[in-house]
Amino acid sequence: MHIILLGPPGAGKGTQAKSMSESLGIVHISSGDLLRDHQVRGTELGNTARSYMQQGLLVPDELIIGMIEERIRLPDAQVGYVLDGFPRTVEQAQALEKALEDQGEAIDRVVNISVSEEELVLRLGGRWICRQCQRPYHEVNSAPRKQGVCDDCGGDLYQREDDVPEAVSRRIKVFAEQTAPLIRYYREKGNLVGVDGEGSIEAVRESLLSAVA
Ligand code: ADP
Ligand code: ADP
Ligand code: ZN
Repeated sequence: MHIILLGPPGAGKGTQAKSMSESLGIVHISSGDLLRDHQVRGTELGNTARSYMQQGLLVPDELIIGMIEERIRLPDAQVGYVLDGFPRTVEQAQALEKALEDQGEAIDRVVNISVSEEELVLRLGGRWICRQCQRPYHEVNSAPRKQGVCDDCGGDLYQREDDVPEAVSRRIKVFAEQTAPLIRYYREKGNLVGVDGEGSIEAVRESLLSAVA
């Protein structure tokens, strides 16, 4: 099973991909998490990506494509995966298709999660992330049991440096310009399903599971 979650920043991709991967027994692959891990490890990719990410711009395609191709070839990914945050451009989508084809595989479902811009801004402004397992929380919508501490792993929670107003509005704009064209791209291929992302986390989870069933 190979699933893509499409949607603007704050749509709930990370939250839903995590629970979806657990329900379906597949791997969750987040391009943003991989990039942040490269930064923590101080790799060349991490250092190059940093300034793009801080500004809310996309990291160049060739860097992202190489990173994802490497990730999907690892043994644990052979059971299938849910991609969160990749692809974000038509060029990335075409590279993914080719990489899958080389392995005799294909994308099974692309789910487009829609949420209004006002709601995205509220979500990103209150988002906290676990430093250890990357689980997203929200100070109002999805608070941890103990403030500042991850329910799942006890890791400490932090706010991303790109979840500040200026970078958030840039990311929403970049989504509309560079990533939204993928909606049409996948609709034409016939494997796109739309899901309303504005309900509760549980309601969206149910809709997503039926969308990929
Ligand atoms: P994305 O990966 O698409 O950027 P996240 O999963 O990180 O989105 O969610 C963004 C923020 O919104 C997080 O703080 C998360 O806790 C919160 N959130 C996610 N889904 C919902 C929902 N259905 N309703 C309210 N808040 C949500
Ligand atoms: P969000 O929660 O806003 O959806 P992500 O964690 O997916 O954010 O991405 C954070 C940043 O990492 C993006 O703003 C961008 O700079 C970079 N990034 C992540 N995935 C990609 C990608 N597929 N292509 C280019 N840049 C990416
Ligand atoms: Zn955690």
